[in-house]
Amino acid sequence: MARDPANIISTSSLSSVKGWREIPIGGIITDAGSSEEYETGGWRSFRPIWDWQKCVNCKVCWIYCPDGSIRVRDGVVVGIDLDHCKGCGICARECPQGTIEMFEESEAEEKVKR
Ligand code: SF4
Ligand code: SF4
Repeated sequence: MARDPANIISTSSLSSVKGWREIPIGGIITDAGSSEEYETGGWRSFRPIWDWQKCVNCKVCWIYCPDGSIRVRDGVVVGIDLDHCKGCGICARECPQGTIEMFEESEAEEKVKR
């Protein structure tokens, strides 16, 4: 199997990796409100695609999104924060207008290029 250089940890970088004694019990996050620092959108396998032309700004998606990834500016939905959206699909399921559709990441990549 080919080795991906991006996944190889060099011995010099190992010194900066925390040992088990330094990690809080249960691996809990001790600093509240730190979620924005982590780009959890990288976990996503499905991507929501929002069609602003169909959107009636009811904000149902904003209420339901468990990750706070629906972007609202001056009271208006302006898009989806893909750096933090985990692709659960709740917004697409709850949107009464069918404004948000879910696509597999590879398919979504092609769709946004078009
Ligand atoms: S797919 Fe899930 S996480 Fe992403 S915007 Fe929709 S509800 Fe939020
Ligand atoms: S639920 Fe649908 S129509 Fe309502 S604000 Fe969200 S995307 Fe727009």
